[in-house]
Amino acid sequence: MDERALIDTFFARRQRPRGDVVLGIGDDAAVLRVDPGFDLVVATDVIVEGTHFPPGISPAAIGHRCLAVNLSDLAAMGAEPLWFTLSLSLPRVEPDWLAGFSRGLFDLAECFTVALVGGDTVRGPLAAGVTAHGRLRPGSAVRRSGARPGDGIWVTGTPGDAVAGRLLLGSGRSDATTDYLASRFLYPEPRVAAGRSLAGVASAMIDVSDGLHDDLCKLMTASGVGAELDVEALPLSAALKDAAGEMAVAQALTGGDDYELCFTAAAGLASQVGELMVATGTRVTRIGTVVPAAGVRWRQAGADFTVPDLVFRHF
Ligand code: ADP
Ligand code: MG
Repeated sequence: MDERALIDTFFARRQRPRGDVVLGIGDDAAVLRVDPGFDLVVATDVIVEGTHFPPGISPAAIGHRCLAVNLSDLAAMGAEPLWFTLSLSLPRVEPDWLAGFSRGLFDLAECFTVALVGGDTVRGPLAAGVTAHGRLRPGSAVRRSGARPGDGIWVTGTPGDAVAGRLLLGSGRSDATTDYLASRFLYPEPRVAAGRSLAGVASAMIDVSDGLHDDLCKLMTASGVGAELDVEALPLSAALKDAAGEMAVAQALTGGDDYELCFTAAAGLASQVGELMVATGTRVTRIGTVVPAAGVRWRQAGADFTVPDLVFRHF
């Protein structure tokens, strides 16, 4: 199968057209119509086998993941996703693998009606890079730098599930807990609706890819403030507690790959935050408060809690 046939079969003919794609796959470049009155928002992330996902996971999960991580970055800005390009490096052309990959990719793309408008296909180690484009009303981007003392700190979903799922991959176990956690690692759900609804409401936001504690540190450093958080407020799923036992808190704080949103908002906006998350069907939990002094401090039952120095990220 040559490159042209590969692109036609697995990528070009897979989607319904969007009106703002003037010219999509097939020419030297895509032509996209940007509505006046919006800023363009661009994010790019490459995932490489062995570094960002373990060898041997299903091609559908890889197709899902390369787009999901980029939609998550757009969500963390508060943006509406529109289009994306895909740069794919493949060791060999395997039609079954490509069929699974493009199914995972387009199943997610269709959820948010984002269009694949171009890309590149090369021979090399297995890797998939996506550049995602979205839009925002000027001035409404939620930056990392906007947190202010007194703001509340929230996190969506149940962090820690993804790393627990990753640690269970290949365990040979198959029960409700294992299946749930594995799917939280393999098919992260970018919080697109929640992120968009927080544009103009949240003061700062980041998506949780490197672990909640690490990403909170980045948010607070960018804002020039610190945070005080309550370990007991952490939203731990029943499955995580079941699988990780005493390690559940450590995994929730340091695990990574969650693709949840962590954000701050003025304390007076707490009820509005709650309403927006109900409207978008998103679980959200307040876990702490922004303070003037630098540093991210956790407390448990009134005592200081030291975040364990665990590294979960090697395959
Ligand atoms: P060029 O040599 O001009 O870069 P290519 O042969 O690489 O052209 O690509 C032909 C067309 O197919 C272009 O529109 C390109 O954007 C698109 N394309 C190539 N690979 C992919 C891919 N993996 N997914 C989507 N579109 C792709
Ligand atoms: Mg090319």
